Parts: sequence; C-alpha cells; structure tokens
Amino acid sequence: MEINSEDEYRLETSAWLAENIDLIEEKQPFSTLHWMPSRGRENQHHLDCQQRQKKLYDAGYAGVTVPTEYGGHGGEPWMQRIFREEAAGYQVHTGFFNSIISMTLPALLKHGTEEQKKTHIPSLISGEVSWCQLFSEPGAGSDLAGLATRAELDGEEFVIHGQKVWNSAAMYADMGILLVRTNPDAHKHEGITFLLFDMKQRGVEVRPLIQAHGAGHFAEVFIDGAKCHVSNVLGEVDKGWGPARAVMSNESAMIGGASGDNPQQLIQLAQELGKADEPVIRQKLVAVYVRNKLLKIMSGKISAAVRKGMSPPIHPSIVKLYVAHNRRLEGDLAQWLLGAAGVVVTNKASEWAMELLHARYPISIGGGTDEVHRNNLGEQALGLPRDIRVDRGIPWKDIPKG
Ligand SMILES: Cc1cc2nc3c(=O)[nH]c(=O)nc-3n(C[C@H](O)[C@H](O)[C@H](O)COP(=O)(O)OP(=O)(O)OC[C@H]3O[C@@H](n4cnc5c(N)ncnc54)[C@H](O)[C@@H]3O)c2cc1C
Repeated sequence: MEINSEDEYRLETSAWLAENIDLIEEKQPFSTLHWMPSRGRENQHHLDCQQRQKKLYDAGYAGVTVPTEYGGHGGEPWMQRIFREEAAGYQVHTGFFNSIISMTLPALLKHGTEEQKKTHIPSLISGEVSWCQLFSEPGAGSDLAGLATRAELDGEEFVIHGQKVWNSAAMYADMGILLVRTNPDAHKHEGITFLLFDMKQRGVEVRPLIQAHGAGHFAEVFIDGAKCHVSNVLGEVDKGWGPARAVMSNESAMIGGASGDNPQQLIQLAQELGKADEPVIRQKLVAVYVRNKLLKIMSGKISAAVRKGMSPPIHPSIVKLYVAHNRRLEGDLAQWLLGAAGVVVTNKASEWAMELLHARYPISIGGGTDEVHRNNLGEQALGLPRDIRVDRGIPWKDIPKG
C-alpha cells in the first residue's frame, strides 16, 4: 500500500498518543465532565490541564493550523482532523484551556493587530498564560450588550470600574478578554470596547464562587481603577460588539464540540449492571449514542469551517441546544440505570451519575441560555418576527436599569 503524507501523519500521531497520553478508560472508568471537575479537585485539575496543553503544544498538536509567525505549527486543517480522530479515547482534553483558546484565538486572528497576535497567541495556545472571559455582569447576562463596566480614557490608558460575574477559571487567569462601556451616549451595542486585559494588577479582585454542590468553577471579578493601555483594544474603540459576537459564536460551537464520551460510559454501566439486554434500556442507549454521533458530525463541520476562516455551515445555536438536550437525556438514563443508587452516592459510578444529572443546568445556561438560543434561531434562521426590544434606538445611559 502506498503511504501518503496523511497516512504518515496518522501513524506518527497514533504512535505519539500511545506513548505519551493515558487512555480515558484506563485512567478514569466513570470520569466526570472534563470542563467542570468534581469538588476539591479544581486546583489540581487546572494544573493538569495546563501541563497537558503544553505537552500537546510542544509535540505540535496544539495550534496545529496557527501560522508559525504567531507561535503555531503552520499545519493544514486535515492534520487537526486526523489528530481529533486518533485522539478519541485518549485523555487529551485540556478543560477550560480548550474552551478559552477556542473562543479567543479566532477573534485574535481576525481582529488583532500584528503586535497583539505576536504577543498573545504563542502563550495562549501553549497554555503558558491562562486567560478568562470577562463578559457577564450581575445586570447583563442574556442582555450582554447592556453591560455597565465603564472605561474612561486617561491619556493612553483606560481606567476601568465595574463588576463581572460567572467568570470560569478567573482565579487562575493572568489575562482576560474584557468587555467595557466606553461610550454611554451611544446605543447599547455601539459603545462597547473589547480589551485584552491584564488580571495581575492593582485594582483587580477575584473572588471565587462556590456552587450549590460544592465545586468551584467560577469567580466574580471586581475592577476598581485597574488600567489597560489603548494598544490592548481588540478591533476598534466603541466597536467591540463585532469581536464579542465572534467569541460568543465560537463559544456555542465549542460547547457543542465538547460532546464527551457519556454514551460509552452509559453502555458500560448498563453492561456492569446486567441491564444491557433490556429492550427499553437498549432503545435509550441507542438514542443517546446516535445523538452523540450526530453532534460530533455537526460540530466537526463547524470546526472545519472555522479553521478555514469560513462562516459555520450550521447555526451554532442548533449545536448548543442539541448538546444541552443530550446532557438531559444522558443524565436521565444514568439515573434510570442506577435507580436509588443514582442519588445516594455510594461509589464512583453513582458519583458520576449525580454529576451528569447536575450537568444539565450549567450546560443550558453557560454560553447563552436555551431560551436565548431559541430566540436566535427564530430570528436569524427561521426569519420569525424579532423579539420586542423596548430599548431600541435609545442611548445606553437613558435605558432604565434594575
Ligand atoms: C457553566 C457556565 C460558565 C460560564 N462562564 C462564563 C465566563 O467564563 N464568562 C462570562 O462572562 N460568563 C460566563 N457564564 C455566564 C453566562 O454567560 C450567563 O449565565 C448567561 O449568559 C445567562 O445570563 P444570566 O445568568 O445573567 O441570566 P439572565 O440573563 O438573567 O436570564 C434569566 C432567565 O431569563 C431568561 N431570559 C433572559 N432574556 C430572555 C429573552 N430575551 N427571551 C427569553 N428568555 C430570556 C433566560 O433564559 C433565563 O432563564 C457562565 C455560565 C455558566 C452556567
């Protein structure tokens, strides 16, 4: 058989993975969701993910298609596809590093200056610098464009005051992608600026938030007089909504791509419990298996287009809604299989099933709620009448605020 460069790359990749990376099932039979570690494991999880990101980068498997002048490996999109295929089943996920890179890298490549790309992309894709997303505020989540954190220009620097919330991994972050209000007289979408913001400075206080089940995935960030040089504006002053939308669209696609291997674990659980031959269980297993495969196909198509700099061929809201629905079906099935043991935590499988049960909530809120994504689809894909917007055409400063 003739060996072409794709075959060679596949052989090299599979040999490297076998040598360097653990298999998922060997490491963790009922592994918890990659992006939200179980309680008490957050710090170690972050360090493990950072080390893994660096290992992948050093071997040429992170930043594969990023141009070499920005610290990438200058490879072809098919290399990334082959890596994804070969890496299925290996512990290659890098948690929030994967998320923030998927959101930030395309925005930097598209809207960044040469200097910004050369300064930030190499350490972003290698994981050496940790980033977080500073978008949501107590009064601006679904209505993100209503954000109130203000930045005023003082010479060459913005001076910033405000509060952000629900910021994943902000307690570890060196840098943040930050949205601020720079022109309160403009309409709400028009006076926003996108900053590449240094988190390690006076005037930035990061307070970890503990979730109901004890895990600490988020923080809230208080900014009181912190500064950001104008050279760190991504895009143009007052025109940050464009790059912000790009980040949100990539976020939805990324969440869809994090479809995980829950169906395999559900099949294993059914087998271990001796229930894999029951017709109703088999039907439910097939449903979650097929939906997971469809999700992978959809998110693969979106990723391929994004890597080529094209618009996603499938509306990212479809994928975001699909993954949230899958998580509900998977959580229900895990509980169905375990019965009472699913809620009385007695072993690793039950603990995993409990986390899967809880996972339906963050997945249907983070990256935009299900309701908001349905609105997006209604308006943008189906052409239905637009939602009523009482603040249309009003300067941001005159919009009544709660
Ligand atoms: C796991 C996770 C990770 C996150 N990570 C980050 C992060 O790193 N950085 C960051 O900045 N933010 C992050 N967030 C915050 C997230 O973006 C917001 O929680 C989300 O946008 C919803 O905003 P909200 O919580 O203010 O809810 P609200 O906007 O107050 O919504 C409350 C309810 O009203 C509904 N609603 C609101 N508007 C409409 C409408 N027009 N039509 C119909 N229903 C509507 C919503 O669907 C929801 O049910 C994260 C959230 C989660 C759960």
